[in-house]
Amino acid sequence: MDRAARYHRIQLALGAVGLVIGVAYLAAAIAVDAGHALDAAARRLTEAWSVRVAFVAAVLGAGHRLLTFPLAWVRGWLLPRRFGLLHQPLGAWLVDRLKAAALGAILGLVVLEGVYALLRSTALWWLWATGFVLLLSLLATAIFPVLVVPLFYRMAPLADDALRRRLLALAERAGTPAVDVFVVDQSRKSRTANAGLTGFGRTRRIILFDTLVTEFTPDEIEAVLAHELGHHVHRDLWRGLALQTVISFVTFAAAHAILVALQPISGLTRLGDPAGLAWLAVVLGGLGLLAVPLGNTVSRALEYRADGFAVRTTANRAAFVAALERLGDLNLAERRPPRLEEVLLHSHPALDRRIAVLTRGASSRLQ
Ligand SMILES: [Zn+2]
Repeated sequence: MDRAARYHRIQLALGAVGLVIGVAYLAAAIAVDAGHALDAAARRLTEAWSVRVAFVAAVLGAGHRLLTFPLAWVRGWLLPRRFGLLHQPLGAWLVDRLKAAALGAILGLVVLEGVYALLRSTALWWLWATGFVLLLSLLATAIFPVLVVPLFYRMAPLADDALRRRLLALAERAGTPAVDVFVVDQSRKSRTANAGLTGFGRTRRIILFDTLVTEFTPDEIEAVLAHELGHHVHRDLWRGLALQTVISFVTFAAAHAILVALQPISGLTRLGDPAGLAWLAVVLGGLGLLAVPLGNTVSRALEYRADGFAVRTTANRAAFVAALERLGDLNLAERRPPRLEEVLLHSHPALDRRIAVLTRGASSRLQ
């Protein structure tokens, strides 16, 4: 087994361990009825349900974080360093993780308080919750490039004039107005390279890792930019949001039915009881996991389409394939993961398959 495959086998195995720990943790919380104990503790201070929800969630969430911290450290720091992907010192890595955890906690709490407010006020909570999550997703997408990315990176407009001119020409050929391009200083942390289209409206921009700008030839960078421009032209952010909204609708509706059916077992007289948080987490978490393969399958289709767009627009298949090869090397990508793993877990097609599709495109045009 080569180095990349070994790295991904280990990461996958540890990811499965993390999932098992998470399930066992929630099962234990339910078995000892931690929800009622924590809620009772909160009630000694206040009857306000919003504070009780926050308290139960904070304690259960913090317990899970602490329990899985060693695993997060091995997966996020130790292994990437062993395999030469990461050179960030432990202190800086911890600061990044703390920021990410704080952001996650804030967003999670907003979602939770919103869902509980709806659970406590209407039997159609699952319908309203879908709209609420859509609203939050729109907001999060809009602020991500301007408020979240700067927490982790220094971001500057693409300074290279020649590259900028090429992008403008590219956007013109693609029949779209130019999208701003920004560069972030990934090289401070890691050798990995990446690019992505983020934000919408006035915050929409393509973000490039500086590793990509320094390690790739201008033709290759142009090809990567063309791929990102493809996502823009195809309105993939909106497609993603629309799919996510359908998934949340089905998830919340199914969660309602399951939570009601479970009431004889859970002993929750009201679904909006803060003491039932572990049940809500198990049901929503389980349904969320089921939706992952669907989201990934749609995502992979959008990636293939953006690849096709990049090659057509630049008329330079060799440069795009070379860029994919270079990305694969830098990121220690698994070129050919097991098919089932790709189908279930990967948002992007496997490198070998991506290149094969592009090359097949070439030979079929020759025939
Ligand atoms: Zn893409």
